Amino acid sequence: MRTPIIGGNWKMNTNRALGVELARAVVKLAGAQGGVQTVVFPPLPYLLAVGEAVRGSAVQVGAQDVYHAEKGAFTGEVSPGMLVDCGCTWVLAGHSERRHVIHEGDDMVNLKLRAALHAGLGVILCVGESLHQRDVGETNHINEKQTRLGLREVRPEEMARLVIAYEPIWAIGTGKTATADDAQDAHWHIRAVVRDMFGSEAAGAVRIQYGGSVTGANAQSLMAMPDVDGALVGGASLKPDEFGAIVAAAAARV
Ligand code: PEP
Repeated sequence: MRTPIIGGNWKMNTNRALGVELARAVVKLAGAQGGVQTVVFPPLPYLLAVGEAVRGSAVQVGAQDVYHAEKGAFTGEVSPGMLVDCGCTWVLAGHSERRHVIHEGDDMVNLKLRAALHAGLGVILCVGESLHQRDVGETNHINEKQTRLGLREVRPEEMARLVIAYEPIWAIGTGKTATADDAQDAHWHIRAVVRDMFGSEAAGAVRIQYGGSVTGANAQSLMAMPDVDGALVGGASLKPDEFGAIVAAAAARV
């Protein structure tokens, strides 16, 4: 049985005071749900304050991005070791906003992912197709490509700290959600890719989240799917009641 994992990606939202308030609310609402791993991803400058706010609870803190080098002349960047030093246990890699707004390619995603795993962090690798790619029937092909390139040269023993988020780009922040059946189909294919790369045990253990306009209202049907092991949540993660309802839907699945 895979433990469901719910991530709240706050993106470039909140400020220090609001972030702390939100984190405390998440501890109250989501922290009470047993059997679900809950992680919040605040903006980098608020990692320490949010870490302090969730201290002693089951809620974990992750970063939205990382650089792959350990240290040196990389102005503006943050290393995996620095995230660990700030109490982070997770980091996102390959979020579609980084792929398409910041133009990060699969090679960069892979470098970051491996550096983060090497430093002991858990990593959520985000994959997903655009609307055009979906319309021309390329969903599984894109997910396979991004999964294979993202996980290239990952050591089998590191897979226990790896989560994949299937996030169709057309569903992110749009209010459009993949149907539960479409999400299940995509997740099934992604798990098959992991099986091909790392074997049956790793494929059976890897958690695959769905992301894309998840709300309290649609979480239950998504979470009922056998290959949907949680959600990566953007907009609704800024609303404690909504986020709490999503975590509750994941808990009900356990
Ligand atoms: C995300 O940013 O990963 C995301 C899924 O956003 P939203 O829930 O707002 O669609």
